Formats: sequence, structure tokens, C-alpha cells
Amino acid sequence: MKIFCIGRNYADHAKELNNKVPKQPLVFMKPSTAVTYEKEIPYPSFSSEVHYELEVTLLISKSGKDISVADASDHYSDIGLGIDYTARDIQSQCKAKGHSWEIAKAFDNSAALSTFYPKSNFDLDNIQFHLDVNGKTVQKGATKHLIFKLDYLIHHISKYFTLERGDIVMTGTPAGVGPIHPADHIKGYLEGDLILENLIITK
Ligand code: MG
Repeated sequence: MKIFCIGRNYADHAKELNNKVPKQPLVFMKPSTAVTYEKEIPYPSFSSEVHYELEVTLLISKSGKDISVADASDHYSDIGLGIDYTARDIQSQCKAKGHSWEIAKAFDNSAALSTFYPKSNFDLDNIQFHLDVNGKTVQKGATKHLIFKLDYLIHHISKYFTLERGDIVMTGTPAGVGPIHPADHIKGYLEGDLILENLIITK
């Protein structure tokens, strides 16, 4: 199982981190060991600035390579939410050196996933989602603001990688990312329904 992630796919988020909006999707990956469905998320020992990034996620239901935009929707069946936990301090160091940022993005428990729901339940062009930290809404997004739409992402990723049934795509985060702290209670809502809940713990 592979997890594909998209960076800078909402203009307001690219701007808040002083990044340019990319001309093609910015793709990176997390290993299967990054995935957790547990409520408790241990704060990683190697970072002192871990950020949450709430993202709409797609579950790949049909394998394929070189998938056209027109055929893309046949390849994912379900929608959920994920939090792309990011060691921002480590990522900034990696970026400054021109190094790859896997250690900041792909560590254990860095992909907290919700249950998935059939995509037929949603207006895919305008899925609403938001994240609360300790009862306060900090991120609010809608897929109508995606720079690269869901079908285009499937098309683009499949140019380089064979998509396999069970793979996951994390489609990018809107503005409002910020740090987590031990004891924070984090809640992700899809169309107003609470479907992802994390409690940050120390190891
Ligand atoms: Mg992200």
C-alpha cells in the first residue's frame, strides 16, 4: 500500500508558508508505516514543531497506470479525511538545504486516517471539511478551491506510479495549519460530521 500526498494544492495554504503555487501537482509519498487509525498520536521525539494539515483523502479501488482524466473517477471509490502531520522545523531545515523532506513528512503515525465513505455520498467538486483543535476551528476547506482537482491528481500520479487497489491519495491542505502540543484534542469533520479524532500524547 502506498500513500501519495499532494503539497501546495490550495493557494491560500501555499501563500501562508511563502511557497509559490506549483504548475504541476507536487507529489510526495509516505510509507505504510506512517498510517494510523488510532486516536492517540505520540508526539515525535525528534521535532519541537509538528503541524497538523487536514486533507481530503481518496481510496484507490481499481489499479491502473497512465489513467486519463476522463477515466480517473473509475479508480477511486471512497472519500475520507487524513491529517498529514508534518515536522515543520525539520522540513524547513531540509528545504533550506535543498534536501528531500521525507524525515519531516513520512515518519511513523504521520498519516492519521479516518474511515472512508462511498464517494457517491458527496458532491466531489465541493466537499466541505474542517479541523478543530481543542474546540476551536482552525482550518476550513472545500474541494472547489483545489488547484488540481481530484481526477487530475489520479491522472498525474498514474503517469509515474502504478496505482494499486488500497493505495491512498491525500489531496492537500487549506490554510490554517499550525502546531500541535501534547494533550491537544484534534477533530476532523467531513460535511459537518466528526469522522477523525486525535489526542496528542507524549511517548
Ligand atoms: Mg499536506
